Amino acid sequence: MSISRDDTLNWIKSCAAVLAENRDYLTQLDAAIGDADHGANMDRGFKAVMAKMPEMADKDIGTIFKTVGMTLLSTVGGAGGPLYGTFFLQAGMKSAGKMELSLEDWTIALEAALAGVVMRGKAELGDKTMVDALMPALNALKQSLQDHQPLGDALRASAQAAREGMIATVPLVARKGRASYLGERSAGHQDPGATSSYLILNAAAETWKNT
Ligand code: ADP
Ligand code: MG
Repeated sequence: MSISRDDTLNWIKSCAAVLAENRDYLTQLDAAIGDADHGANMDRGFKAVMAKMPEMADKDIGTIFKTVGMTLLSTVGGAGGPLYGTFFLQAGMKSAGKMELSLEDWTIALEAALAGVVMRGKAELGDKTMVDALMPALNALKQSLQDHQPLGDALRASAQAAREGMIATVPLVARKGRASYLGERSAGHQDPGATSSYLILNAAAETWKNT
């Protein structure tokens, strides 16, 4: 019961596919409380990542994640891209040299990834950012690990927690990022970054459900 290198590459591919599919949706969300570029940013970043697939094919999981992170950092502007770049770079540090990830390894990687986002963006839970999806997802994973849940169930619970966190951003007033410029007017809209985080973690649960 572990995530292989190929599983990892398949997840990255499925992130690229799901972000391309939801490009307009993410852009609409960002149009309401930001500058209408989140869908385009994520799609551009992951298209650039897809172009790196050949060079990632025979690498360890740490190198795969680091390549994704570096590519997002160098191709995506704004706040979201660098934060996701940090997310994957930090996950890569914890997965250095690994050819497979157990549930515990994935939990450690996600914990470091979230810590990187928090360190860089300084957002707390409830600030209406991607942290609102990522933190509940990490907490669900930790709980599943403690309860000795199978990997597939743990990933499903984690994606579900991310989804709930994403939906919970709707009534919130943004305190970080561009949406915070709107103040109270940011309430009533779902956060685009929390939405892309849910899509990415849901892609992991879907891709890895039978691993
Ligand atoms: P920009 O805001 O520069 O246009 P994007 O539109 O790509 O960048 O990304 C916006 C998303 O980034 C927001 O919906 C939010 O989830 C996330 N975000 C913005 N600032 C922060 C921050 N300081 N910490 C965590 N996430 C943030
Ligand atoms: Mg934007």
